[in-house]
Amino acid sequence: MKLFSIECGNFMVDGGAAFGVIPKTLWQKKYPCDEQNLCNVATRSLLIDSGDKRILIDTGIGTRIPDNFLKYYKLNGENNLLSSLAQFGYSSEDITDVLFTHLHWDHCGGALVNDTKGNIKLQFPNAQMWVSKSQWEWAMNPNEREFSAYPNDIIKPLNDFNRLNLIENDCQLFPNVEVRQHRGHTNGMLVPIVTLGTRKVVFVGDLIPLSANLAPIYLSAYDIFPLDTIKEKNEILKEIVDGEHILMFQHDISIEACTIEFTPKGYKIKETFDISQL
Ligand SMILES: [Zn+2]
Repeated sequence: MKLFSIECGNFMVDGGAAFGVIPKTLWQKKYPCDEQNLCNVATRSLLIDSGDKRILIDTGIGTRIPDNFLKYYKLNGENNLLSSLAQFGYSSEDITDVLFTHLHWDHCGGALVNDTKGNIKLQFPNAQMWVSKSQWEWAMNPNEREFSAYPNDIIKPLNDFNRLNLIENDCQLFPNVEVRQHRGHTNGMLVPIVTLGTRKVVFVGDLIPLSANLAPIYLSAYDIFPLDTIKEKNEILKEIVDGEHILMFQHDISIEACTIEFTPKGYKIKETFDISQL
């Protein structure tokens, strides 16, 4: 089995949104921002090639989200979903499964594309798609707070192709891929845990978006149930430290993966590395 980090492009997010109530004087020591207070963040997917299956976790922003929405986010970076897959020798047709951690626009937009006539089609024509049942229902009936995170014409058509599978419980979804539901960031967000030989890789997604969000109280303002996020972060960080697991960041611009240690000052990054080194 092999893992590949798929860089789908970067976007800019307001530092206040990324770090919530944490004062800028503290977070800016841990993550850079520009003069407009914007932090550049990655949209990094994980491709798991198990031999039998090519499983893609999340798909980045894609090309269907309108410019008037994206003007606040200043897309940048040299890579996109398809170029990054191609770099490792994969095409859209090779992907057998797409697993969404959740359906916020920057995690699932790349699953669909418009053809030249403007009709919506699947980016991955041979893939089954997977999301938690609770996240699907949440996204189909969004609350006011998350309304703009679930653009209706981006999310709803995912169900038009008879490919969407809804996961009801924590489970071993594939032989080496376990999924666990969380709710702090958004209801039913999945954290995939991949077994690679003797080690486990925990794809923390928006539970710990950036390395600077590592401390359990360094929450992003996007979380809808912040106290649950703190509890969930404490649980997963303890498990990562105890098991000597590898944490993979989805949004950190410079750190793909790391190990964690618990110190008198709290959880700290021990060692950083790229997924290609595993
Ligand atoms: Zn999110």
